[in-house]
This record gives sequence, C-alpha cells and structure tokens, in this order.
Amino acid sequence: MDAKRDTTDSFIAKEARYGARNYAPVQVVVDHAKDCLVWDVDGREYIDMMSAYSSVSHGHLHPRIVAAAQRQLEKVAVTSRAYYGTTLGPLLEKLSEVTGFERALPMNTGAEAVETAIKCARRWGHRIKGVPDGRQRILVARGNFHGRTSTIIGFSSEPEYRNGFGPFDGGFQHFDYGDMQSVKAAATPDTCAVLIEPIQGEAGVIVPPPGFFQELRAWCTAHQVLLIDDEVQAGLGRTGKWFAFQHEGIRPDALILGKALGAGLLPVSAFCADDKVMQVFSPNSHGSTFGGNALAAAVALEGLKVLEEEGLVDHCAEKGDYLMRRLREVQDEVRPLIRDVRGRGLWIGVDIEPSCTTARDLVERLAAHGLLSKETHETVIRFAPPLTITFELMDRAVEIFRRVAREKHAELAGRVARQGTPA
Ligand SMILES: *Cc1c(COP(=O)(O)O)cnc(C)c1O
Repeated sequence: MDAKRDTTDSFIAKEARYGARNYAPVQVVVDHAKDCLVWDVDGREYIDMMSAYSSVSHGHLHPRIVAAAQRQLEKVAVTSRAYYGTTLGPLLEKLSEVTGFERALPMNTGAEAVETAIKCARRWGHRIKGVPDGRQRILVARGNFHGRTSTIIGFSSEPEYRNGFGPFDGGFQHFDYGDMQSVKAAATPDTCAVLIEPIQGEAGVIVPPPGFFQELRAWCTAHQVLLIDDEVQAGLGRTGKWFAFQHEGIRPDALILGKALGAGLLPVSAFCADDKVMQVFSPNSHGSTFGGNALAAAVALEGLKVLEEEGLVDHCAEKGDYLMRRLREVQDEVRPLIRDVRGRGLWIGVDIEPSCTTARDLVERLAAHGLLSKETHETVIRFAPPLTITFELMDRAVEIFRRVAREKHAELAGRVARQGTPA
C-alpha cells in the first residue's frame, strides 16, 4: 500500500475507531481549503459543491472574514452575556437592517435558534394569544428538518431521526408541505405558530407550489398564528435573494438564521422578530453562554458586509440559473437516470431515478473525480456551492458530473443489454 493512501486510511480509521458512528462520511480526508476548492491529505483537489450544508456561502476562509476574526482575537473572544461588548451591538443592528426585523436573539447552532423560536412561540401563544399554558400547539410540515435536539426530532416525520430517542412531549401537529387544506385540518384554537422551511432542504430541496406561502401568510394573520420561517439553510443569499421569503412576496413574523451567518468560520445563529413578538423574553427566560460572543459577532458582522459589498446575493440568481440549465442538459443526455433537477439560486437537488442507482453511489463517484456533493435521503444529490463560485468553476463541476452520469448511464445500458440477451 502506498504511503499516501496509508495516511488517508489512518485518519479515517481514527474517526471510525474513537468517534460515535452518527455519520457516514464520504471517504475524503480534507486537509485544507481556499474559497471553492478543497484539498485532501494526498494533495488531491476537489471543487466544493456542498459548502458544509451552506455554512460556507462566502467560500472557505474568506480573507476579509479571517482578518476580522484575527483582529478580534487580538482583543477578546468570549465574555458571556453577563457584560456588554463592542461587536454584538453592531451585529444586531446589521441583522435588523438586512432582515427588516426590529430585534435579534443570538445563539450558536441552528437547532438552538429553532429552540428559541419554539419557546418564543409558546410564550407568545400563552401571554399574547391567551392559550392556556401547556396547551400551545405548533404546526410543522411533514418532511421537515429543523435540527437535532430532542424537542426538534420529536416533531420530525423521519423515523431515522426519531427512533429510540423518545419520549416526545408533543405539542406539534403535522401538515403536508405546500398543502393549505392540510394546514387548516391540523390547526386548533390552541395553535400559536406555523414553523416552516421556505424550501425543504434535507427533504430533498423541495420548492413550495406557487402561492402557497401567500395563502399561509393570510391564514396565519386571520387566525392569530405566528408564521416562523426557518431560513437556517435558505437564508443569506442562497436562493438568489437575501431571504427565500422574498420570492414569495410575504413577510413572516419571525425568521431563524444560522449556517452561513457564521460566515464559514464559526457556529452563529439568530432568532429575529419584531418587538411585539420578541417582548415575551425577559431577563433569565432564555440564553446561551456562548451566544453572541465577541468573536462570533465580529465574524458574523463581517460576513454580512461581505455578502452585501461583494454582490454575492445579486449574482447568486444568475449563477444558479446557469448551473440549473447546465445540469438539465446532462439530465437530457442520460435519461432516465435523473428524474428531476430542481431548486432555487445556488441550491439545487438532482433527483436520481431509484431503479437506476442511489444518490450515494453517484456522490462517491463524483468525489473520486474531484467534486464534493452530498446525498440527502436515498435519491437526491445536493449541489450548493459557495456563492463565490465562478462560471468557469461551475463548468468544470458540470463536466465532472456529466462524465460520472454518462459512465453510470453506459453501465446501465450494458446491464440492460446483458439481461436482454437470451442465455
Ligand atoms: C441545518 C438546519 C438546522 C439545524 O442547524 P444546526 O446548526 O445543524 O443545528 C435547522 N434548520 C434548517 C432548515 C437546517 O437546514
């Protein structure tokens, strides 16, 4: 065995030997990265079309964001919210400017910001709407993904995320994503919020039917129900607008941000709402030791400025349209291997025909050819590159995808031909 392969195997073996088995990573050992490119320990180069589930929207180690982190590291990193600081206020102000919401509550991971939203909705339901405490209900969509805490997986409809982790407390009611009749059927007078993704990411990049969010918005308003929009993955430019709700021509009552808010460096999340909702939080009612720490706030603030000043949001729609068109060309060439190519902006799901192969099979082949992606469920390959990706790099990525898809297509044709030949 050559020495290089040996290094790769030893890193993989160590994670496998000492880690919990809660992930099944693609067999690539990342050593370092720059913008849209990643190199493994053997020096092999990859195009990153996954960007850590949209956390790396700015590209890896964006120089301005690294510099902002370094400047802050010369001063102070963590103080807790026991004191004020010089970076949190400016971050909150900037968040208010870009989201249009009056206030934000900083947390670290996406799941914590979702928990914040749930607590806020329940307290709002009790104190403002008048639902008896303990009876508040929140509507969630089937196929949702909002994170991995025990409360959140309690309302997942995915057995893999839930099995063996109960008991679950309840207080959540499912409806079918994109189906207004189903929302109405699930609601009761105790319903205080609808928690929803503007595009269902982990479910396979599911884009809602036109008009659904407008109807949902109107229904929520009419029934005094908060519309809480989880844009942990969709937000901050990913779909070609700052926020995916802008495609729908609506404004939610609250917005959850994470992933790209950390600008590819740190976990930073936030729950954003106007004062009439946020007012339910009083001192000691909620918090997080690391939430809004000085370093995280400096990084997130610079990340928002970079998105704005480098026009990353503006260019995303055009780049996304281009990538979608090129991927659909490949779809036409390898029929029936790919049954759908869908998404919005630089967030694309390529849905594989299950009788042909699995998404994972293709993801592994793409990695072997220098393209990083990730499957979600059995059939969908997700492409969500950094928003900094160039047209030239997208062309290179599409060429790799074409090659892998054609190889698979040829294999399948061979299989059919062999099976079709009488023995
Ligand atoms: C990733 C994700 C979360 C959870 O974020 P974590 O940082 O992994 O806790 C929540 N909601 C959505 C829509 C996500 O995509």
